[in-house]
Amino acid sequence: HSPIHVIGGGLAGSEAAWQIAEAGVPVVLHEMRGVRGTDAHKTDGLAELVCSNSFRSDDATSNAVGVLHAEMRLAGSLIMKAADANQVPAGGALAVDRDGFSDAVTAAIDGHPLITVVREEIRGLPPKEWDLAVIATGPLTAPDLAESIRQETGADALAFFDAIAPIVYTETIDMDICWYQSRYDKVGPGGTGKDYINCPMNEEQYNAFIDALVAGDKTGFKEWEGTPYFDGCLPIEVMAERGRETLRYGPMKPMGLTNAHNPTVKAYAVVQLRQDNALGTLYNMVGFQTKLKYGAQAEVFRMIPGLENAEFARLGGLHRNTYINSPTLLDGTLTLKSRPGLRFAGQITGCEGYVESASIGLLAGRFAAAERKGETLAAPPATTAFGALLNHITGGHIVSDDEPGKRSFQPMNVNFGLFPPLEPGAIIKPEGAKRFRGKEKAAAKKQATAARALGDCAAWLNGCA
Ligand code: FAD
Repeated sequence: HSPIHVIGGGLAGSEAAWQIAEAGVPVVLHEMRGVRGTDAHKTDGLAELVCSNSFRSDDATSNAVGVLHAEMRLAGSLIMKAADANQVPAGGALAVDRDGFSDAVTAAIDGHPLITVVREEIRGLPPKEWDLAVIATGPLTAPDLAESIRQETGADALAFFDAIAPIVYTETIDMDICWYQSRYDKVGPGGTGKDYINCPMNEEQYNAFIDALVAGDKTGFKEWEGTPYFDGCLPIEVMAERGRETLRYGPMKPMGLTNAHNPTVKAYAVVQLRQDNALGTLYNMVGFQTKLKYGAQAEVFRMIPGLENAEFARLGGLHRNTYINSPTLLDGTLTLKSRPGLRFAGQITGCEGYVESASIGLLAGRFAAAERKGETLAAPPATTAFGALLNHITGGHIVSDDEPGKRSFQPMNVNFGLFPPLEPGAIIKPEGAKRFRGKEKAAAKKQATAARALGDCAAWLNGCA
């Protein structure tokens, strides 16, 4: 076979290259880092995690991203293999040592006999002689390539901003005030039930903190006015502006936590920090993505009890995100309709998050390899997390009941809202249960949706779907 060219060695491009090579087809992976950096990447390693070190929930029985993890493992994902091998404790979440993870991906790709890595910036659309190619250049696609994509598609690429949460040196946290505990003492893979550092606040401290957050100097809005924020990733000060209580019911909720230094007094609010590297020398402030200016961040975050003397390894920030209008531009195999053989993968297609990006890389890689081998790969069933996400991106799934057939495309994390409803009678009241409404029913629905997804994914991978 002649090679398939993959542009971008991030989460999606690395996974795509791996899947293609594992299918027996040679790959040339073009990655510009080493020659040209991005605003967020710090290393030349493949699959570098630019922000949080978490792949989110690893619960495959009732959480959509946990289901996606499980499907990727079934499909022999390199990203999941490297993540599993580099876990750090994080309650029910799958978090990784970022350097160990990236090193493992880089070593596997470099060591694969069918993969050649070329360190270069690709400045335009792939030349015609690259008959099969995958563009996986991510949210920070270099400008020349982005411009070529814009010219080819004729569609405006949209930009919005993600926000980075600050990272603190563990030794600068005052453990006479803070304590280790996972919410509800939840013990996840490799965890102890004490995976988070918790900083307690009383009512007075909380109110002063909210006032300071709202008053703090922010990065100018000018360039990005009208930029949509995602509710899962709102800057902390924007949440605070929405109402005094918002944070107490969001990232600063005190539920499931008992102050080890003062067990009888319930904290009014709690700031949680999650381990950020295998050594445990760094902790990140969970949910504290922010557009406060650096000076203001240090000042305001040091008001948090236990962080009075905190030193920050990295402060929070704002970042650009480039993505195409996939539902109109791509077919169901992620191929650009106007250019057969050219696929897109990863965050540039309009998914959101490390795992989602890698999973779309996995699918693009499998579709491309099948095409090279003259085979037809059936699309993953809509009932799987793969299929649900792919359908969100390529437009097979209509999200608006009000305007059937119409939708405005926004990047999305995988979630149960993307899965088709269960068949009638798929969930039944468990024997002996007194109640089966509200919460109980919702939990049963998630479990049934997750079980259906994994069963259908296994069948699809075995060629039975
Ligand atoms: P990337 O991982 O960015 O990989 C793209 C690769 O392409 C890069 O290595 C880049 O160097 C290379 N490249 C770009 N242009 C060219 C070119 N012209 N030629 C050759 N190579 C090129 N997701 C989360 O799940 N959790 C988070 O906490 C999180 N935080 C984020 C913070 C920031 C600042 C940003 C920008 C994104 C964040 N995301 C987060 C989203 C995350 O980046 C993506 O989910 C994921 O990295 C996307 O994977 P990707 O492979 O599509 O892109």
